[in-house]
Amino acid sequence: MIYDVAIIGGGPGGLTAGIYCPRYGLQTIVFEKMAAGGQMNLTETIENYPGFENPINGFELSMSMEKQAKASGAEIKYKDVTKIDLSGKVKKIWCDDEEFQAKSVIISTGASSRKLGIPGEKEFSGKGVSYCGTCDAPLFKNKIVTVIGGGDTALEEAEIIAKHASKVYIVHRRDEFRGQKILQEKVFQNDKIEVIWDSVPEEIKGTNLVEEIILRNKKTHEKTILKTDGVFVFIGYIPNTEIFKNQINLSKQKFILVDNEMKSSQNGVWACGDVVEKNLKQITLAVGEGTKAAFNAFKFLSNM
Ligand code: NAP
Repeated sequence: MIYDVAIIGGGPGGLTAGIYCPRYGLQTIVFEKMAAGGQMNLTETIENYPGFENPINGFELSMSMEKQAKASGAEIKYKDVTKIDLSGKVKKIWCDDEEFQAKSVIISTGASSRKLGIPGEKEFSGKGVSYCGTCDAPLFKNKIVTVIGGGDTALEEAEIIAKHASKVYIVHRRDEFRGQKILQEKVFQNDKIEVIWDSVPEEIKGTNLVEEIILRNKKTHEKTILKTDGVFVFIGYIPNTEIFKNQINLSKQKFILVDNEMKSSQNGVWACGDVVEKNLKQITLAVGEGTKAAFNAFKFLSNM
């Protein structure tokens, strides 16, 4: 069978498109390689999604969106899309050897955690090095933890980790945070959190588990050894666009370039959410973009 729309990725953008497309009468399939919700699942509390005056748990919000997409009529396939051909009128999508076809595609594959790329990071991944506070913070009860980064994620996650750890260092490479003021204030007011400015990590060391991190001050070039039981890395994200390269236009950083209608450079292909090139990444934006992408896919198919 040929689907009207194939949505690749089940984060907030993809699930919103998954809610809207069936409502336009489109035969819709959503591919999600792990659990629907994307990065929302890695967020313990979401405080800025409208409609919830009390913070909502990221996993719960994901589950609600997924149920809503299913109730709307979207088919959700829990499979990894390994290859795609967006060139023809009928788009071809492969999950290993299994082939699917669709008249249009909405890409919402999101982004994955950026790595530090320093000695010890890979070696101690899962042995003290983590990229998800919500998942791993409880493992560091009464321990010392170092958070790397200065954006919204680092600030939010440091707060969560501090609920479990005895001490949290935030190591940031500049002398001011990039993250929102409201998150900065919470961090500055938290007695358990200490900020180490102008510093970058150079090496993570230990025997079986993480024991220390070596930092370099960017202004004085002084090196310090910080005793720590855990290193949480929140230094941004890399877009999941590997399978689309050479098929649609990507930015220098490999995010998908779209127009105001979320249309990519390829006919019949839209994109939404964190995989799209933009200067602000928010669940609320992904939701709006998913809505637009669904509407424009509908208009495109109606004119076909
Ligand atoms: P981000 O905004 O890109 O911030 C990354 C941080 O890591 C920056 O402070 C950056 O330093 C630092 N960094 C980058 N590469 C580094 C390296 N190699 N070594 C050391 N530090 C490095 O990423 P994010 O915080 O994950 O946020 C991603 C997007 O999601 C943003 O648009 C953010 O607003 C959004 N978000 C929103 C919320 C919310 O609204 N509650 C929550 C989470 C995320 P510099 O500042 O010096 O560049």
